[in-house]
Amino acid sequence: MEDWVSLGYLLSAALFIFGLKKLGHPRTAPFGNQLGALGMLVAVLTTILSMELAGDAEWVLIGVGVALGSLIGYIMAVRVQMTGMPELVALFNGFGGAASALVALSEVWRYMEDSSNIPTGNLEITVIMVAAGLSALVGWMTLTGSLLAMYKLKGGVSVFGKWIKTPTWGPPWLNPVKVLLVIAVAVLIYLSIDEPTNTTYLWSIIGISCLLGLVLVLPIGGADMPVVVSLLNSLSGIAAAFTGFIIGNSALIIAGSLVGASGLILTFIMCKAMNRTLADVLFKSFGGTGEKESLTRTKVGSDPDEVAMMIDGAQKVIIVPGYGMAVSQCQHQVKEFADLISEKFDTEVKYAIHPVAGRMPGHMNVLLAEANVPYEQLIEMDEINSEFPECDVAIVIGANDTTNPAARSGEGPLAGMPIIDADAARTVVIIKRSLSVGYAGVDNDLFYMDKTMMLFGDGKAMMTGLNNAIKEI
Ligand code: NDP
Repeated sequence: MEDWVSLGYLLSAALFIFGLKKLGHPRTAPFGNQLGALGMLVAVLTTILSMELAGDAEWVLIGVGVALGSLIGYIMAVRVQMTGMPELVALFNGFGGAASALVALSEVWRYMEDSSNIPTGNLEITVIMVAAGLSALVGWMTLTGSLLAMYKLKGGVSVFGKWIKTPTWGPPWLNPVKVLLVIAVAVLIYLSIDEPTNTTYLWSIIGISCLLGLVLVLPIGGADMPVVVSLLNSLSGIAAAFTGFIIGNSALIIAGSLVGASGLILTFIMCKAMNRTLADVLFKSFGGTGEKESLTRTKVGSDPDEVAMMIDGAQKVIIVPGYGMAVSQCQHQVKEFADLISEKFDTEVKYAIHPVAGRMPGHMNVLLAEANVPYEQLIEMDEINSEFPECDVAIVIGANDTTNPAARSGEGPLAGMPIIDADAARTVVIIKRSLSVGYAGVDNDLFYMDKTMMLFGDGKAMMTGLNNAIKEI
């Protein structure tokens, strides 16, 4: 039996690693996802078989759990809108952390119920109590932090029909509090090694960890949210790896380490994209208060016919997609637009991709890939920015913060974030419903420039109108 279990875990680990490799390119990513899911199925089946369940009741319990979990996961995956994915990911991160912490808790619970279960070796009990404490710290912190992050991404929560905005709050004295809370958990873990049956330590670690998750995420807002979401994703993996140590499950250690490591790499990529260090994000509360700037300026809008006439004759057009493209789901109309102008006007078309455009890493790539936009046309921000001065028209579709020149000023929620240099193009066309601010709540000077034409309206409606106008030229 032992050999089969090791083989099953080895197979699932291999599937995770190959799946992760395939996730590295948008074209192979769906297959990578399937490999990862298959790896998880193999791991679950191996675990169930290795448990050697005796009674019918145990099988029924496991079966009901698996069926319920699969049903809930299926319904959530089918019902979620593309724009709701980041919140769903944040929720899954939180559940992942909580699941790991609960498994670790149940293992330690066995010692509390019956002290004869406690390992006798000094080293063994030290390893288990430290791993259990760390799993509780990371797991519960991930749960509360992720739930708060989810509501921050939503913008608020509806309580009895009343919309309550999620606060962003981070006075400077909160930083020493965070450090004190971590030290308190370390001390409690140390004390629990000598008294593994004392429940007070355990409950205190859980309580402090929940609080820590909230105070870590509370000050972060605005454009820094992508960093915190990917950090929480990494933490959920680390919690799983700690739990793997406690219950001696190699698949959990491997899967947890993969999630932890890849999440951490993504966190640093996001930090680089935002021009921040991780310490800046966690301790400097860059994201601002979450308040939106009030708008005082106005701008007269254009219409699709006017824009189509202007595009006729353009040699180079760069499309800058943002969150609004995801909301209006106009990626197919955007692709049609690119095809139309390259065929009809012989225009060169490229797409400028900002690393945090949209609401999740790779959001724009996923949407444009769905519309069959060739990957060669998707150019990363660092590479394409030098091309804007020779670009005749920059078409900004539902992007706001990622094009906001205020980021260059060194102040405010967007301070220091590199942006797409759409303002360097000869003419800028912006498609959005109003002059309203983006996620970080900062008014955008780009809208009011003389060379900017605003096409006010829903992304899909405006792109359809523009395509029709181009067809009639
Ligand atoms: P923004 O969120 O800054 O702005 C999106 C704009 O889209 C809005 O100003 C809105 O204007 C417009 N819009 C909304 N609905 C529609 C519609 N139906 N049709 C047309 N336009 C619409 O977008 P960006 O992509 O530029 O920036 C992303 C922001 O999100 C950054 O601040 C980033 O840090 C943050 N973020 C990113 C995450 C990630 O992982 N990528 C995760 C969490 C946050 P209007 O209402 O006038 O139409």
